[in-house]
Amino acid sequence: MDECIFCKIARKEIPAEIIREGNDWICFKDVHPKAPVHWLVIPKAHYKNFQSVDNGQLYGNLMMGIREIVSEHSLENGGFRIVINTGKDGGQTVSHLHFHILAKRSMGWPPG
Ligand code: 5GP
Ligand code: ZN
Repeated sequence: MDECIFCKIARKEIPAEIIREGNDWICFKDVHPKAPVHWLVIPKAHYKNFQSVDNGQLYGNLMMGIREIVSEHSLENGGFRIVINTGKDGGQTVSHLHFHILAKRSMGWPPG
């Protein structure tokens, strides 16, 4: 999708603070964080929302990616949330599927 902001981030056409990347997904910092840790995980391919994906392999890869990120940053120590807003009434403002990872970083690591 040419004009989709998250497609542009996935293609590295506009900058984002990238946390980690897999073959078919990328994780970056939310530009307006609502928690000390507020990261977004997106498929590199464009899907407009949660219901648009009919591919268990892709969802498996996204979930395993999130799991790796959580482990790498020890987020399970304090706990975390995964949020998928879907559709207008679900609070979705960017029409490219994304998983929010939210945590308080209560263990104080890593910094930043
Ligand atoms: P939604 O409300 O659609 O579930 O979440 C969209 C999220 O994307 C928001 O938290 C918003 O701050 C974030 N966001 C919107 N545009 C950009 C951007 O250009 N770069 C980054 N890193 N995050 C963005
Ligand atoms: Zn897109």
